[in-house]
Amino acid sequence: MKNFSENDYLNMKKNEHKIIGGTNHGKVVDEIMQRDFEKIKNFPYNSYDYIQKWQLERIGEIVDFAYENIPLYRKKYSAIGYKKGTIKTWEDYRKLPILYKDELIEGFPYDIVKNVNDFGLSTRSSGTSGKFVTLSLSIDAIYTDTMQGVRQFLLQNAQNYKPEDKILFIYTLPWWITSINGKYEQDFLPTTASVEEVVKKIKETKPKIISTYPTYLTKINSYGINLKELGVELVVIHSEQSTRQSRNLLEKGLNVKVLDEYSSEELTRIALECPYNVYHLEEDACYIEIVDPITKKTLNYGKQGIVVGTNLLNLSTPIIRYYQGDLAEIGESIACKCGNNCRVLKSIKGRYMDSVITDKGEIIPASAFMDMAYNWFCFLAIPIHGLRYQFIQRTKDVLELYLIKGKYEIDLEKITNSIYLLIPKTMKLSIIMVDNLPELGLKYKPVVSFVKDGK
Ligand SMILES: [Zn+2]
Repeated sequence: MKNFSENDYLNMKKNEHKIIGGTNHGKVVDEIMQRDFEKIKNFPYNSYDYIQKWQLERIGEIVDFAYENIPLYRKKYSAIGYKKGTIKTWEDYRKLPILYKDELIEGFPYDIVKNVNDFGLSTRSSGTSGKFVTLSLSIDAIYTDTMQGVRQFLLQNAQNYKPEDKILFIYTLPWWITSINGKYEQDFLPTTASVEEVVKKIKETKPKIISTYPTYLTKINSYGINLKELGVELVVIHSEQSTRQSRNLLEKGLNVKVLDEYSSEELTRIALECPYNVYHLEEDACYIEIVDPITKKTLNYGKQGIVVGTNLLNLSTPIIRYYQGDLAEIGESIACKCGNNCRVLKSIKGRYMDSVITDKGEIIPASAFMDMAYNWFCFLAIPIHGLRYQFIQRTKDVLELYLIKGKYEIDLEKITNSIYLLIPKTMKLSIIMVDNLPELGLKYKPVVSFVKDGK
């Protein structure tokens, strides 16, 4: 087997524009939409029985394809004696071993695709210890994803999203298809753009919806901008954890509705917050279950555990029973006013890796610390806007809190007391005042923990 270098990958990526640029993909999507969009649009409103039946069938196809064509799965599933056509029930599905990010990183390039040239169309996300996960994408998956994107904004903006409406993405990279044959146009600005540039763009192109990171929206908010006056009706935030309380503050500050999108590079859209603030799973984008962090057994409705999911769109690098690593719980489909019949995701609590593990082995999710920080703002007049605090756990018995001093006097005793409502007295707390937070990667993380047993 010849060695595949980073250069080989980059050369392949150079061909990407030929693959993407060679065809008018927006036109292709438009044609597919004429035929399929009603079905895609209505999918969440089917009965949950229908949804589940559809999912199991789709999963059966994907697992068989992966077993027959993708070396990583061939090895993994042969080891448990898998035979083509085995997936008949959810029990069969749950017998498949869980897939971890490290396996995708180690399997790159040969073991995670049918043909190495498939990386001509691919995406990367940051992985553990600075290594990247590279996933090959099929153009069909990109098409379906694009149409599910249209449905996303219909769903989140209470069906008020028309072909002539524009969306502004303030993000790292633009989406592959930025217009569906002149309809549903997307504009793009990188997150390095200044707020002045963003305001100028909004005035020029009049987007109805903005999609960005919570950190960037917080930055816009600090400029005292009234987005409603500029014609924006909805802001969707994603990629970083945010709480409903922090979104309420942003809504008030920016005078616009702010809803969350829970998604990942590997699983695409996982769940979307509807106008009634319920997170409905995107059941035709990925199939989600919750597993116990230690035993990895699937948990019932209402039990907190780790999000594991199967991507139902992309066969190029199949993602099956993938350990997403976030703490959450699933609830049954509910009679939501929006009419969505998909199961609901309750209390997304951030990554298990970012939760604090006490010296007694108790898991305190990042969201508990975020809620507490919100209380500092409300009751202790401590500013929490932007990157003002960060908890870091380096050893089991010590928790560090880094604070950037705002214009207010901070009552450290009150902060200390509030933190000890969450962590046991046996843990040491050290509060450190800084000018810059210590752990700043691409995304702001309110809690960073280096203390975990296993995955
Ligand atoms: Zn709803």
